[in-house]
Amino acid sequence: MFETEETFEPVPARMLNEFTYCPRLAYLEWVQGEWADNPDTLDGEFVHRNADRPDHQPIATPDAEGAEEEKLHARSVRLESATLGLVAIVDILEVEGDVATPVDYKKGHAPDIPEGAWEPERVQVCAQALLLREAGFTCNEGVIWYAASRRRVRVEFDETLVMRTQDLIAGCRAMASSGRMPLPLVDSPKCPRCSLVGICLPDETHLLLQETLAADPELAKAVREPRQLLAPRTEKIPLHIVEPGARLGKRADRIIVELKTEKIAEARLKDISQVCLYGPVQVSTQMMSELFDRDIPVCYFSTGGWFRGIAHSLPHKNIELRIRQHRIADDPAKALALAQQFVAGKIRNCRTLLRRNAEGDAPELGISISHDVVAARC
Ligand code: SF4
Repeated sequence: MFETEETFEPVPARMLNEFTYCPRLAYLEWVQGEWADNPDTLDGEFVHRNADRPDHQPIATPDAEGAEEEKLHARSVRLESATLGLVAIVDILEVEGDVATPVDYKKGHAPDIPEGAWEPERVQVCAQALLLREAGFTCNEGVIWYAASRRRVRVEFDETLVMRTQDLIAGCRAMASSGRMPLPLVDSPKCPRCSLVGICLPDETHLLLQETLAADPELAKAVREPRQLLAPRTEKIPLHIVEPGARLGKRADRIIVELKTEKIAEARLKDISQVCLYGPVQVSTQMMSELFDRDIPVCYFSTGGWFRGIAHSLPHKNIELRIRQHRIADDPAKALALAQQFVAGKIRNCRTLLRRNAEGDAPELGISISHDVVAARC
């Protein structure tokens, strides 16, 4: 949906925030559909939990007949304009007569800078103002509510901010329709706090771009050894149900396992990485849709433990990645090289597990991986 101007999707105001922070981040999230949580994004979700509840109180446009002159509040208001090529969800919309004020929730502290708020946040709320102006409202200022400081920061929509926002909308559209992912930031303090750092791999990408570095001595000087990434340790575990006749249902945020009408087990959904069902075990439709929403796959096995199939939610949206994977799968030499690495990695993992779970002193375990054997197996 990004190829032509006619079919172009409107730029979400939230993506404009990301684009201002880092164009590559906007590309990864918007064009490639990548997402990863980190403590900051989870905190943000928690702060938005009230504002994200759609409010059904209608907001009258200023020229609507009988529009009341009192102040109205609405939560989670969606605004879209084909003319501006923009779409936004306003956390809280305050309306008094024909004057509208968008209020945006942020989880952090209000920054101690003359502008009162970071540029990406001011641009995001200004984009909401452009949509409100187009809908006929007067909108000269907005508010950013910083939850950690419990402070409302006023943002004035002056000419400079409006022009900057319009430039960024055009830039964001051009980036998406170009089909080229921008390069990562160089040695930026933004990267360690970015939730997509493990997908973007900024330092590693620059290090591998030897040709780019050779052509740009300034960039080559700025590029440093990759900073160490710490992979998150997932606390989730698989749930195996082996009791014939068992039935899985959902109650609040828990999986309930029943046999006939008796509860035999339960588990918190947030602790589960996958659900494995052996033989005649039933799952309710509500449970399946909750598992899909949470990206938890359901694996079906025979009573004897043979794998039969898997059900999971819609596949990853990153089309560019899938196209490249298929191209490599079609190239026997490249496919073999990758397969060898997968098999070698699995053998190393087995070794680690054996050593980790050994009783007493870990035994000496050497690894001997013959690529010829791997090639024969593939
Ligand atoms: S890790 Fe850095 S370069 Fe990569 S998307 Fe995030 S901010 Fe941008």
